[in-house]
Amino acid sequence: MWQANVFTVFPEAFPGSLGVSVIGKALKLNKWNLNIIDLKQFPAKLDRIDFPPFGGGAGMVLSPLTFEMAFNLLGENQKNMRKIYFSPRGRQFNQTDIQDLADSHGVTMLCGRYEGVDQRILDYYSFDEISIGDFVLSGGEVAAMAIIESCVRLLPNIVGNTASICDDSFKNCLLEYNQYTKPQVFNGLSVPDVILSGNHEKIDEFRASQSKKITQKRRTDLWKKYIAMKMKSIRKQKNTF
Ligand code: SAH
Repeated sequence: MWQANVFTVFPEAFPGSLGVSVIGKALKLNKWNLNIIDLKQFPAKLDRIDFPPFGGGAGMVLSPLTFEMAFNLLGENQKNMRKIYFSPRGRQFNQTDIQDLADSHGVTMLCGRYEGVDQRILDYYSFDEISIGDFVLSGGEVAAMAIIESCVRLLPNIVGNTASICDDSFKNCLLEYNQYTKPQVFNGLSVPDVILSGNHEKIDEFRASQSKKITQKRRTDLWKKYIAMKMKSIRKQKNTF
């Protein structure tokens, strides 16, 4: 079963958004497992898990002794899972990274608070530093929820309609087309005629062209990747001809 181990100073933040809707239902049905470890239970010295930084500076830094004690309680196969530390210094995650993580047995995550964690935790345990965007949160808990939620919805038998996952933004380097529902006219704005035509070939064509236009306009980085992918597949077709 896919498992997320989350080390945090604020266990009460969980399950949070992971306890609702399809992801929450799947958690209750044991289709995936959430193991929250409260770092406060592992004081490095007296009642303290964090200390002021050596060399001076503001805030507190999580002691490596606290993390070591907490980590040692994981089972052997849990210890070998991929490790992620959330940090604004990290590499930004994308949908391909999420798919890789969802295809693995699970992940161990460390949520920072205050000034973060002692660098030796990250070096000794080989943590990947991951950011969820160029902005600063006050803790890694929301970042952990975002990454876990994105992974769990890709696991088999979690989202009822797998077609909805196949059409998601970023699949094949394109953003999703516009969506419409009832009523057909809202405050003078109509749903495009082709969407109401019932002609599914035409609807697919329209949606695909919309996806391309939106991607080209909003995300030139993705659009370049899409073009490169297309060129590669055309070259491959020519070679096998
Ligand atoms: N002084 C640190 C920021 C500490 S913010 C720095 O400048 O790098 C406290 C914690 O919030 C971090 O340790 C990290 O776990 C989390 N965090 C903050 N911003 C984040 C982001 N963009 N992505 C992921 N985690 C983040």
